[in-house]
Formats: sequence, C-alpha cells, structure tokens
Amino acid sequence: HADTAMYLAKSRGRANYQFFEPALAQNAYDELVLESELAQALERDEFVLHYQPQLSTDGALIGAEALLRWQHPQRGLLSPDAFIDVAERHRLMLALGEWVMRSAAAQARDWHQREIAAVPIAVNLSRMQFHLEGFAGTVARVLGELHVPGHWIELELTERMLMDDIANAPATLKALRALGLSVSVDDFGTGYTSLAHLTQLPLDKLKIDQSFVAKLPADVGAAAIVQAIIQMADGLGLRVSAEGVRNGEQRALLAGWGCDEMQGELLGAPMAPAEFERWLLHRHGAAA
Ligand code: C2E
Ligand code: MG
Ligand code: MG
Ligand code: MG
Repeated sequence: HADTAMYLAKSRGRANYQFFEPALAQNAYDELVLESELAQALERDEFVLHYQPQLSTDGALIGAEALLRWQHPQRGLLSPDAFIDVAERHRLMLALGEWVMRSAAAQARDWHQREIAAVPIAVNLSRMQFHLEGFAGTVARVLGELHVPGHWIELELTERMLMDDIANAPATLKALRALGLSVSVDDFGTGYTSLAHLTQLPLDKLKIDQSFVAKLPADVGAAAIVQAIIQMADGLGLRVSAEGVRNGEQRALLAGWGCDEMQGELLGAPMAPAEFERWLLHRHGAAA
C-alpha cells in the first residue's frame, strides 16, 4: 500500500523491520469486522452493480460502466472506496472481482437479448485481478460459461496497474484483446505512466481523470492538461473519454477540444439496472 508506514522494533539485539498500515493500526477492530462481513457478503448476495451511461460527444449511448455497491445490512449502500482496499488486503478481491465480471456479463447479455442497449459494459479491475497469472484465461472461462462475446465487455485499469507489472502487462492485454475485449486506462493523468511504455501497450481508450475535468473551465493548468491528453490520444490512435462531466460549460469545452466520449452527473449518474432502463426509455421518449 502507498502509505504503508514502517517502524523499527528491536528485540534481543536484532533489528526487525515490520510494516503496518496506519489505517489498520488505528481501526484494527473495525477492519476485522469489515473483513468478516465482506467474506459473508458474497454468499448473502449483498453486492449490486450500478451502471453509469457513457455517451459520445453527440449524445449517443456508447457504453455503461459497472460500479460496485455493497448493500450492507446495517450501514446501507456502500461505495467501493469504503471496502475495496480491505477486500484487496484480505485477498477477497479475486472472488469479488469474478462476481463483478460475471454479473456485468450477464447484464450485457440481458440488455442485448431484450434489445435494451446493444453497448459494451465497462468493468473496473483491481490490481489483484490483473496481476493474477492466467487472468485472461479466467475472463475467457467466465464469458464462455455465459455465452457472452468479448466485445460486449470493456476493461478499465489504472496506470499504476499497468506500470507495476510492465513486464507482463503487454501479453495480458494482448490475450484480453484477442478475446475481443477492449481496454481503457482509468483515471488517466494521475499516475506515472512512462510515455514510452504507453506507446508499446495495446490499449483502446484513455479516460481523463475527473479531478482535471472538475477544475474546468476556470483552471488554465487543468485545461492545458486535458487538451494535451486529448491530443496525445489522437496521436496514438486511442479513443479519449472525460470522466466527471458536471455542467454544460465543461461539456462544450471538451467537445470543442475533440474529446470523443463523456461520462458524469450532467449526462447520467450511476443507476441500478431497472433505473438505467427507465432512464433509457425516457431518453428515447424525449428524443422522439
Ligand atoms: P472510477 O472507475 O474512476 O469511477 C468513477 C467514479 O466517479 C464512480 O465512483 C462514480 O460514481 C463517480 N462519478 C460519476 N460521475 C461523477 C461526477 O459527475 N462527479 C463526481 N464527483 N463523481 C462522479 P464510485 O462508484 O464510488 O467508484 C469509485 C471507484 O471505485 C471507481 O472509480 C473504481 O476505481 C472503483 N470501483 C468501482 N467499481 C469497482 C469494481 O467493480 N471493481 C473494482 N476493482 N473497483 C471498482
Ligand atoms: Mg472506472
Ligand atoms: Mg476514474
Ligand atoms: Mg478510480
């Protein structure tokens, strides 16, 4: 973990270096409770996926991002930031990640079959999943079992995940794309991707991090970064999307700069599947 602290403990004249998480040390009991609740949550069917529309600049629906939620029996609907780190630390993320993939693939199949939306569903990956040997094989197995073609699924991973495993990342990405999946780099601009590596990786899309979009239109630095990412994506032949679009001014600027796709509160919040379907119907009704 990034903010892992280190302390030195000396015993019997020998130096022991121990690592501990400050958050864990402060809330050891809380984390223990959360961990055991998380371990049961899958069996108890407490996880749900919400879906946020992804639109092209001209307003067409081009995808939906699956965002994990935990319907906690006491604490209500929890966002991933409240539990993903704990799930990673206790290795529950592999099972949870596979549940997400399975659930998103089943949703994609349902929406395609019922002709609700013939668009890919974007799935966020955790570092644990991506770095697992044979990950592409797991994806192939899950999609095969559900009879879902690879092009109905898009994977979102972060710069950090790519750079942490730069030796194996190209082969894993190649195997995933051979299955038909497309690959996006999430939160782009916040990590430390070597630009040399970026050109070597088989990728489809860069998603500009919402922290830059949030500072538009006022912040000239953010504006320069966003424009540079859009131009770089264009030069590399990648699609480019902006996250966290909240107002019309931001949308107009991004469209003017040549951004291909957008996502954010202005265009549609993350919604439960039934709500997403109602939203789609209403949109079509409104357009007709
Ligand atoms: P992300 O993939 O970058 O997703 C975007 C986050 O921004 C989501 O938060 C979304 O609800 C939120 N958002 C959407 N539009 C707006 C907007 O206009 N303004 C603002 N301020 N926020 C907006 P959420 O759902 O809480 O997810 C947080 C993060 O958790 C995600 O960031 C992703 O990294 C991770 N995550 C979500 N689902 C999964 C999953 O199934 N597996 C894994 N490994 N990670 C997940
Ligand atoms: Mg994402
Ligand atoms: Mg993001
Ligand atoms: Mg993120």
